Amino acid sequence: KAKTEGGNQFLFFSSEMNQVAQESMRMENELRNALKLQQIEVYYQPQVDAQTLQPIGAEALVRWNHPKFGLVSPATFIPLAESTGLITEIGNFVMREAVKQTYQWYQQGHNLRIGINLSSRQFTQSNLMKEVQELLSSNDLPSELIDLEITESLAMSDAESTAHILNGLKAMGVSISIDDFGTGYSSLAYLHSFPIDTIKIDRCFVQNLNTQAGQAIANTIIAMAKSLDLEVIAEGIELTEQIDYLQARHCDILQGFKFGKPMPAREFEQWLREQPKKSAATNSVAENST
Ligand code: C2E
Ligand code: MG
Ligand code: MG
Ligand code: MG
Repeated sequence: KAKTEGGNQFLFFSSEMNQVAQESMRMENELRNALKLQQIEVYYQPQVDAQTLQPIGAEALVRWNHPKFGLVSPATFIPLAESTGLITEIGNFVMREAVKQTYQWYQQGHNLRIGINLSSRQFTQSNLMKEVQELLSSNDLPSELIDLEITESLAMSDAESTAHILNGLKAMGVSISIDDFGTGYSSLAYLHSFPIDTIKIDRCFVQNLNTQAGQAIANTIIAMAKSLDLEVIAEGIELTEQIDYLQARHCDILQGFKFGKPMPAREFEQWLREQPKKSAATNSVAENST
C-alpha cells in the first residue's frame, strides 16, 4: 500500500513539476522574443541631492511590457534571464539604451549620472569591459556619468575577481556603486580595496528608520561610508521623516517614490521640468511631491 502511495506521489509531483517546467519554458521563449518585439524598456527613477533636493541623476530600471501580463517586474524576469543566459543580451540592451539616454540628456545640458544595474552573469562575462569601452568611446560623454551598480552579495561572492573586474571598469572612468548595501556580508578589508565611489543603503533599512535598530544601522553605514570617503545613496524614500533623518545624518543622495517612481524617459524629462529650481537646502519637497 505504502509503495502504491509512493508511486502516486511520484506521479503527482512529476506532473506538477512538468507543469512548472512547461510554464517556465513558455516564459523563457517569450522572454527570448521580448527584445525583438520591443517589449523591453528602460525606466528611470530620480535621484536627488539630499541637501538641496535637486535632481542629480537617475537609476535605470528595466521593464518587460508583456502583452498579456502588463509590466513584468525585473524581480521576476531577471532571475530567469540569468539562468537562461538571456541576461547578456538584455543587459547589453539596457546599458546601450541608458548610455544613449544619458548622452542625450548631457547634450541638452543636464549633467545627470545614471545608475545601471549589472547582474552576476553580466558582471563576470568576459566581454563586459569591451562592451562598456565601446559604449563610452562612441560619444564624448564624461564616463563618470555612467554609474555601474553591483550588489553587495555579488561583490563579495568572489572578492578577488570582483576587485580585478572593478579595477578594469574604473580605469575607463565610470562610477561604481555597491547596491543593496547591508543585506549581505561585507568584509571591510575588501570593501576598502574595491575602487568604489558609492554605496546604496538598502530600502529595508530606510523603511525601519522609525525604529532604534533601523536608525543604528543607517547611522553605522553612513559613518562607515564617510570614513572610507564614499558617497552614500539611500534607496526607498517614501516619507518626509526619512528625508529629514537622512539629511541630518549627511547622507548624500536620496532615491524613492517620495521623489518619483521609475518612469519612461519622456516622463522623466517632464518630471525634470517640474522640479523647482532652488540652490539652498529646503524642506519644501514635502509640498512639491505630494
Ligand atoms: P535595485 O537595483 O535595488 O532597484 C531599486 C528597486 O527599488 C526598484 O525596483 C525600484 O522601483 C524600487 N524602489 C525605489 N524606490 C522605492 C520606494 O520608495 N518604495 C518601494 N517600495 N520601492 C522602491 P524594480 O525596478 O522592481 O527592480 C528590482 C530589482 O531588479 C532591482 O533592485 C535590481 O536588482 C533588478 N533590476 C532592475 N533593472 C535591472 C537591470 O536593468 N539589470 C539588472 N541586472 N537588474 C535589474
Ligand atoms: Mg548608483
Ligand atoms: Mg540598483
Ligand atoms: Mg538596491
